[in-house]
Amino acid sequence: MAGYNRQSVYLPDRDGLEKCAAAAGEKKFRASQLENWLYVRFARSFDEMSNLPGSFRRFLCENFLSPCETLSLLETAADRSGTVKYLWRLCDGELIETVGIPSGERMTVCVSSQAGCGFGCAFCASCKNGFSRNLDCAEIVAQAALVSAQAGGKPDNIVFMGIGEPFANYDNVLAAARRFNGCFGIGARKITVSTCGVVPGILRYACEPEQFELAVSLHAPDDEMRSRLMPVNRRWPIRELMAACREYTARTNRIVTFEYILVDGLNCSRRHASELLALLKDLKCRVNLIPLNPVNGFFWRAPSREICRAFGEFLTSHGLNTTLRHSRGGNVNASCGQLRRARASSLCAGETAGNCLENTAQCAGKEEK
Ligand code: SF4
Repeated sequence: MAGYNRQSVYLPDRDGLEKCAAAAGEKKFRASQLENWLYVRFARSFDEMSNLPGSFRRFLCENFLSPCETLSLLETAADRSGTVKYLWRLCDGELIETVGIPSGERMTVCVSSQAGCGFGCAFCASCKNGFSRNLDCAEIVAQAALVSAQAGGKPDNIVFMGIGEPFANYDNVLAAARRFNGCFGIGARKITVSTCGVVPGILRYACEPEQFELAVSLHAPDDEMRSRLMPVNRRWPIRELMAACREYTARTNRIVTFEYILVDGLNCSRRHASELLALLKDLKCRVNLIPLNPVNGFFWRAPSREICRAFGEFLTSHGLNTTLRHSRGGNVNASCGQLRRARASSLCAGETAGNCLENTAQCAGKEEK
């Protein structure tokens, strides 16, 4: 991990924890205790691990980054619904965000997979300063563990919809998803990876043995508009994207969730609804409609409630499984990328504005009304 000589205590597997216990001269059961502190009790520091001997805790301190050293909390922002956004500093100074989204007794954690993003979607705040680097597995796992520590319990759902394109960091994302499944005990179907449309990633994901879920950011029913909103469409246009989604549903027998951000005057007319319907009608899928979350510095706005409803009702009345979501957290800068962006500009005054701003609405729109 850049910036430190020590590696994170979120070691790749059980074997790693056992080797760590052995290196400290401890018996094997200490690895189980450590594992329990990390993934069940969500300890933030080695000091909290009260049933580990002092000598083992000192060994851990000297040789590994504790959870709260893996990610240092810089700032939180909460809104009335209980949605909390966390801004973390990584060991090398990079900033990332995580969102905790409560819904009744349940909680969804939206994790970042990269520091910055180079995909340049036109309505995403995450990439204003471009791509910095991929997160390693420990940095992804630590986000959910530390949010769980704050919230007092493990998440029910994990969504890879924070900063970054998960399939551009495929191995670390899959390793983290497996850790959420195996160590946190979160069902594979409660873990969703969301892509902006990286076709090779979708095809690879279709071959994974776990039943992880797939979400695809679509946002436009035709290539001309989608390429304008999402440059990734120039590399993998809608026809190729749909073919990959079909392959995914055929191989896995699972459905694809399409995210569609509604932008006033841009993609939410009756014509757009008809085109979307034609595109998706033969696919095993559901559609999440998300009114755009306003982002400072961008002129696009969400359509009126009536337009959003009419768009959704048209799709539903023609048999498409459609849900109209509402944005969460926009009022606290809690849409993905906004805290990071605000902090980055205050840290690096004069830095050039970058290029993107989308999972703002994606992530903040997770919960149904
Ligand atoms: S929405 Fe933002 S973070 Fe996601 S791929 Fe597009 S630019 Fe990257």
